Amino acid sequence: MRRDMSRPAPKSFHVKSFGCQMNAYDGTRMAELLEAGGMQAADSAEAADLIVLNTCHIREKAAEKVYSDIGRIVKKARGRQQPMIAVAGCVAQAEGAEIPRRAPAVDIVVGPQAYHNLPQLVADAVAGKPALDTDMPVASKFDALPKRRRQGASAFLTVQEGCDKFCTYCVVPYTRGAEVSRPWGAIVDEAKALVDAGAREITLLGQNVNAWTGADDRGCMQGLDGLIRALDALPGLARIRYMTSHPNDMTDGLIAAHGDVAKLMPFLHLPVQAGSDRILKAMNRSHDAASYLRLIERVRAVRPDIAISGDFIVGFPGETDADFEDTLTVVRAVGHAMAFSFKYSPRPGTPAATMADQVAPQIMDERLQRLQALLNEQQHGFNLATVGKRCGVLIERDGKRAGQRIGKSPWLQSVIVEDGPAIGELVTVDIVAAGPNSMTGTIVAEQRAA
Ligand code: SAM
Ligand code: SF4
Repeated sequence: MRRDMSRPAPKSFHVKSFGCQMNAYDGTRMAELLEAGGMQAADSAEAADLIVLNTCHIREKAAEKVYSDIGRIVKKARGRQQPMIAVAGCVAQAEGAEIPRRAPAVDIVVGPQAYHNLPQLVADAVAGKPALDTDMPVASKFDALPKRRRQGASAFLTVQEGCDKFCTYCVVPYTRGAEVSRPWGAIVDEAKALVDAGAREITLLGQNVNAWTGADDRGCMQGLDGLIRALDALPGLARIRYMTSHPNDMTDGLIAAHGDVAKLMPFLHLPVQAGSDRILKAMNRSHDAASYLRLIERVRAVRPDIAISGDFIVGFPGETDADFEDTLTVVRAVGHAMAFSFKYSPRPGTPAATMADQVAPQIMDERLQRLQALLNEQQHGFNLATVGKRCGVLIERDGKRAGQRIGKSPWLQSVIVEDGPAIGELVTVDIVAAGPNSMTGTIVAEQRAA
């Protein structure tokens, strides 16, 4: 961290977010905050006076990316004024002052619970003072953030942060802190502001979003299903989604909501992580494979077309071939529309990092390949089964060709359509073809959703 050296105040900024949707949300909020302070969003990192690297610490590879990015920024800036560099997010929280020691080009370090202080940290860096804030304040950062104003057709809204589950492989409880639910009124107000700014779809976010709980405007305690039902009544909002959920917090009310809330999309991201009960216990997941499969059955009973997504870790310490076969068995029993799968990555400070029987890298590679082959096959199968269906597609962005647009189906598949509907339109589409990663549709009639 450069100290005792004042420098020009940055006029433009670029935020680059890595990792999960919650980081994407934080990145947007940081951009709104910097804009509210008078800075302009630059078209690219190269054109920015301030670059914010909003980092992810979940796996070693993700965490190391920040250092290669800093190296690239420094190299590109040779011979001209180097942009101010801020490291935000979970690497900032986990590594703190170690970051500027390892990468002296870094001017600012700010954790995920402190980024509302970013403008002050920028001012400190301009004045040549140290600028590091990794506090986890009791007062919510959300109260200090400006009103929502940057919005596309589909918006993220963080309703819950942190985690008390302490899965033995995971850094989130240490980097994001204890589980906290944002208040009902703040969420409803932010949802209204997002709709006013142009959002037609809102995805409620949390590390354990379905653990959200809070008192509604009449003082009655509600779970996530109550919040979803309240947002269902919001005029102008067409679609509601939520992620990521934990199997233990999948309440009867939330399952029922999938059957009767029209705006709640038929998509559920419900990570199981592994299929072996022995490994699930060592992971401290507090569910087993059978209880997970029963949950999926119950959700499908109320919403038979629901798309199931998940996260998987292969090569958790002690995972045998038989344990891994159990994971494949669960995957076959569920049938996924999409899923994310990772090799286990030991994270400093987590219990699993020091467990015996760490699995050899080449075994992890082989297992990951087999798992991904099965998941890809399932995803393609799910996509093919959508061909011939008529559904709503929310148009989110331009495609490659003139007039081409890309939107999302109710099942979160990317759908390519022609004839240039406007971004933000909810059009009715016949799905005519499916690939492994996207679908093709023809527009039936352009309609605005109620
Ligand atoms: N709260 C969510 C849950 O319980 O499923 C997940 C949050 S975490 C940010 C996203 C995913 O990263 C996890 O579901 C897990 O599959 C993966 N993950 C977390 N720690 C990991 C590690 N040490 N190595 C590999 N993958 C990991
Ligand atoms: Fe990490 Fe487990 Fe919490 Fe998910 S539930 S954030 S995997 S500790």
